[in-house]
Amino acid sequence: MSNDTTADDNGETASVIVVGGGAAGLSAALFTAKNGLETTVFDTDETWMHKAHLFNYLGIGSVGGSEFMATARQQVDDFGADRRQGEEVTAVGESGDGFVVETSVASETQRADGDSAERSSADRSSGRRPREEAVDEDGSYEADFVVLATGANRDLAEDLGVAFTDEGTVDVGVEMETSLEGAYATGAMVRAEEWQAAIAVGDGAAAALNILSSVKGEHFHDFDVPTDAERVFGEHVAE
Ligand SMILES: Cc1cc2nc3c(=O)[nH]c(=O)nc-3n(C[C@H](O)[C@H](O)[C@H](O)COP(=O)(O)OP(=O)(O)OC[C@H]3O[C@@H](n4cnc5c(N)ncnc54)[C@H](O)[C@@H]3O)c2cc1C
Repeated sequence: MSNDTTADDNGETASVIVVGGGAAGLSAALFTAKNGLETTVFDTDETWMHKAHLFNYLGIGSVGGSEFMATARQQVDDFGADRRQGEEVTAVGESGDGFVVETSVASETQRADGDSAERSSADRSSGRRPREEAVDEDGSYEADFVVLATGANRDLAEDLGVAFTDEGTVDVGVEMETSLEGAYATGAMVRAEEWQAAIAVGDGAAAALNILSSVKGEHFHDFDVPTDAERVFGEHVAE
């Protein structure tokens, strides 16, 4: 084992793929990126948060769901996560000791843009590069851990073959780990109805802390204290 406390068994920085960048997924990504794990988030921006206005999120009086998401995205970006907005995960599976996901940008873009064949022909005559070639970034990505956070859509969890409850939700414990070691499920997919932003955010945090504990080989807490804030923000820290 390397001295690097964020290293995996091969001595490389441990990596996490988060599928879904809503409340649960971004919360997981925040903790793993903040604490040095290589973190990639794929998101198609259909989060329910865009439909919500929060009056019930402890510590926040009132905030629009989209505004909440904008702050969350900025926060996750600032901690160094690679947030691949608009890139849909089409498949997830096991690979060696970790996981592999397949993604598709092109199909998402074509759906959003309408008739791609017509546009291709116009692009050819104008000499411009066809749009679907320009965005054809279908990819395959591997990581040591995967966090599923696809809202109430449980298709990828089913593909991965993790256990489900009798209620049809993904079966997890309080650490949010599924029946498959290293694969986590969070947010709306693990509950039949009790869907709240605060719960989803808690699920993501629980998954991330469990991953960090597993990588570091001991129970991990992400505790900061006032001197940390002074170090980062200096005189701007609120009294
Ligand atoms: C009308 C409405 C009002 C609400 N009001 C409140 C409220 O007042 N207070 C409150 O606490 N909660 C409220 N909620 C609930 C809250 O929005 C959810 O609890 C929360 O968004 C669930 O978080 P999540 O991360 O599980 O799923 P989501 O936030 O839905 O995020 C899932 C994300 O995964 C992405 N995704 C899915 N599949 C893929 C894939 N294959 N590849 C890449 N990305 C993918 C989606 O695009 C989406 O962005 C409300 C919900 C609704 C619908």
